[in-house]
Amino acid sequence: MKTGFASDQHDSISNAPARAFLPRLLIALGLLNPAIPPAQLSEIGERVERLCQTRLGDLKLPPNIQSLFEIRSAAYEDKIMATWALLMALLNSMTACFSFIIVPWRFLLFTLGMRLLVIGVFLASFYLIRKRRVRSQAHLLVIIPCAIGMIVDSLVSQHIGSADISRNLLSVSMIMSGTAILFGKIHSRASIFLLLLLTLLLSWSLLASPFFGLANDFGIIIFYGLTMVGLLYARNHQTRIYQRLFLFLIRDEIRALNSSREHAQLTSIAYTDRLTDIPNRRHFDELAERINAAPEKLLPFTICMLDIDHFKNLNDRLGHAQGDRCLRVVATTIRNHLRRKGDVLARYGGEEFVLLLPNTPAQIALEITERIRLAILALNHPNPGTELERVSISAGIAAADQPVRVESLLLAADQALYRAKTSGRNQVTA
Ligand code: GH3
Ligand code: MG
Ligand code: MG
Repeated sequence: MKTGFASDQHDSISNAPARAFLPRLLIALGLLNPAIPPAQLSEIGERVERLCQTRLGDLKLPPNIQSLFEIRSAAYEDKIMATWALLMALLNSMTACFSFIIVPWRFLLFTLGMRLLVIGVFLASFYLIRKRRVRSQAHLLVIIPCAIGMIVDSLVSQHIGSADISRNLLSVSMIMSGTAILFGKIHSRASIFLLLLLTLLLSWSLLASPFFGLANDFGIIIFYGLTMVGLLYARNHQTRIYQRLFLFLIRDEIRALNSSREHAQLTSIAYTDRLTDIPNRRHFDELAERINAAPEKLLPFTICMLDIDHFKNLNDRLGHAQGDRCLRVVATTIRNHLRRKGDVLARYGGEEFVLLLPNTPAQIALEITERIRLAILALNHPNPGTELERVSISAGIAAADQPVRVESLLLAADQALYRAKTSGRNQVTA
């Protein structure tokens, strides 16, 4: 279709879901990426509908939806991870400050050096997450600083040989790895690795140290171990909740997309002539209303009424099907002569077409219409029994160089067409 009328309506509809509150909130949080690739969405539509019905405990995203989920939640996860890395650097800085109080002076330099190493690693991790330098292996930015932190805690604890200090340092390790499991962008497998590492270090630190009693500290191991398992479970559950939320949002987006497509299709059907596939009378009338509201922008503009000569004869002689074919050919020929984006061709009545040429003076419109008349004549489409023995058209033109209502221009064009008919047909009259 030559005009953007139907598509204007479509555009305003397809933007509608973006105004809903929940998606807006999630976009603000970075959980939802506002740019939707529609092709991707319609592909996964049915799958998403089914996944929305799945029990939360059984929810498992197929690879393509999982990767869409990861893309959508990347910004949000990055923000959380970066904040976590910074907080861990802060926690280790506080531990360093405490060293001045609790660590004997001869171990102070060693302890502070080790602690600075851990702070440095967490700050580096924070920097890399913020700059998004490590994309595919992002979980390493959580695991490496945590593992280094835990090893340092164990070494320091072994080196100083004080049960109290060891317990403090192991608490730091616990906080680092526990929060890593909860907030870091790490898969279950990586979380389990972290959990095992912590358990090993914990066991080694506590059990291998002569300062610990097995009976006393066995409880601590069990307590830490259970806490970690609980965090792991919470993390998995939290991920599934996010996934479910993501699925609901995607489902709504897909539904909105589908209904806006359907609406666009219906709109297009309502405003298109089925036989010739060009805009219909309703389309033209609504366009005329818009032009009447602000005709200045189109000035000077021209309206042409085009009518097939002796069409009734063609119908009577060759049959209705041939008549329909002729209408389609004529419509296509006229349309092919329109070069500018704003030009509108509509089927006005049975074998009558209307042409609206914005910013076109009468003389130019006359030339265009004359070319159309000759092109239709050159089709040599049979119309037996008429003077020319082939299909021809007559046209009437009316131009406006100052604001005027479209109806009065249509009337003038119709009168010009009548003159063309009475003067022998197959001609254009202004
Ligand atoms: P003139 O040269 O004066 O315009 O004569 P005409 O025969 O073209 O005009 P008239 O108004 O007498 O006849 C128009 C005919 O167009 C009558 C109608 O049956 C036919 N017609 C209208 N719509 C359609 C259509 O969709 N398909 C076909 N095949 N014929 C149609
Ligand atoms: Mg006619
Ligand atoms: Mg007619």
